[in-house]
Amino acid sequence: MQQLYMAQRHPQALNAEAYLAAHPELTRENDLFRMNSGPIASTLDNTREPFLTVSPETPARNMFPAGATRDSLDAFLAAHPERRAALLDDRALVVEATAENRAHALMVLDHHPVFDALHPGLRARLQSEETYLALPYSVAYAHDILFITDRLNAAAGAVESGDAAFARYLRLRARDLLADDYEGGDAAWVTSAFTGNLNAQIGSYETYDDALYGVKTFFSLSLLVRDRARSDELQAALADIQIVENALPYAHHREVRTDIPVGVYNVVADFGQARGTNTATILPNEAYLARQYGRTILMRGNILLDESIFAENQRAFSAAVIANQAGDLTAEGGFYRTLWHEIGHYLGVDQTADGRDLDSALEDTADLLEEMKADLVSLTSARILQQRGRLTEAQLQGIYASGIRRVLQKNRPRRDQAYQTMQLIQWNWFMDRGALRFENGRLRIDYRRYPEAVTSLLREVLVIQRAGDRNAANAFVERWTTWRPELHEVIAQRMRESERTRYTIVTYEALDGAR
Ligand SMILES: [Zn+2]
Repeated sequence: MQQLYMAQRHPQALNAEAYLAAHPELTRENDLFRMNSGPIASTLDNTREPFLTVSPETPARNMFPAGATRDSLDAFLAAHPERRAALLDDRALVVEATAENRAHALMVLDHHPVFDALHPGLRARLQSEETYLALPYSVAYAHDILFITDRLNAAAGAVESGDAAFARYLRLRARDLLADDYEGGDAAWVTSAFTGNLNAQIGSYETYDDALYGVKTFFSLSLLVRDRARSDELQAALADIQIVENALPYAHHREVRTDIPVGVYNVVADFGQARGTNTATILPNEAYLARQYGRTILMRGNILLDESIFAENQRAFSAAVIANQAGDLTAEGGFYRTLWHEIGHYLGVDQTADGRDLDSALEDTADLLEEMKADLVSLTSARILQQRGRLTEAQLQGIYASGIRRVLQKNRPRRDQAYQTMQLIQWNWFMDRGALRFENGRLRIDYRRYPEAVTSLLREVLVIQRAGDRNAANAFVERWTTWRPELHEVIAQRMRESERTRYTIVTYEALDGAR
């Protein structure tokens, strides 16, 4: 999975990996490679730079032909609208329709009839289509996928006697990977109550690395061990979820299920897109799967409550806000804010008014808006839970403070950074609505104005999502992502100066601390 992820992100990543494996004395390059899952690093100034002799990163990554641009592909899709669905499929690699690429893909189908059987119509498509070919991931990465399915089936055998439901999920997921259709495994994953404490996120899900269209998913695998006590406590908190949905500032409320599987886990191994210090996940993303089966929420407890990560957050927060608010941030506030962020993905608008999926309607702005919605729903639900007596005033303040820490940036975000961009939008909106004020080089949080600032921005986001107009969404993003040297840069610099570490290399218990 790690190899697949690297191959997806840069055409020379695997060569670079082999080079570094042969040169263990290059410890700095090896660390950078590990931290960035490839030969391109995010610098302290938030630029993306190669640190080995490889080509620079492009928006096409290694998912579209080298040199493909948004303009060239848009022009092709406009002229061939019938090709759009296959080429922008979330689990298909786009290559040029050269004789060599065509022959290779057909050879894979000849050698491995399983792919032919599981992708009806693919062979005819590969034989006839011009200019570009859309290769299902299983065909594009056939050997790796066959290896992974083999290991998943072996793992299913190993856990069978202890947790039969988990074993069934692993077997279904193995089959999903061969078919590039995850419905079977996702249904089992989301709806079965595993009897043991193991859980795993397996496959390609998140689209954050696709800088061209925001539709291609990238491979990941996380191995998780359930924290039973915390999980049970969280499950109880979900009783209020419909009340939160009904309180959101839009008219088209849905009935939401309250039996959402949410668990707190200790992550013991991560690969590919999931690797790093990400704090929580909600999957699957596809609206039709979420509607039919629900989604599972995986809170990563040993990251969320890690003391050194919190201390770094605390230093940045203290540097940014006025002195007597510096103590407002709490680890617990971050934990609950993150939990309700994930639940926030369940609530609010889930398709456009005319019934399109948000991803295909809003493309590269979809992730950003969805994440901002989840942030704002989280802050809304905190207020509702406090009003209902489930949280104290002090706990609410901790969550609000965490909401502020979240949006403050150490660098001006790049437009292709969905999270950072939507955080900057919130920062600017909160300033505009008086929830934040700039005072003598620091920020003062106005907790009284905070709820209205959250509600008004959430209302905007829900309107944009429901309209599903990519141009309008981009205009909104453009308008609210200003970065002023005399304000943002002052705060950013203060936070940077407070820093002891910017980057974190995570080691994993199940990998024996090794890479
Ligand atoms: Zn999210």
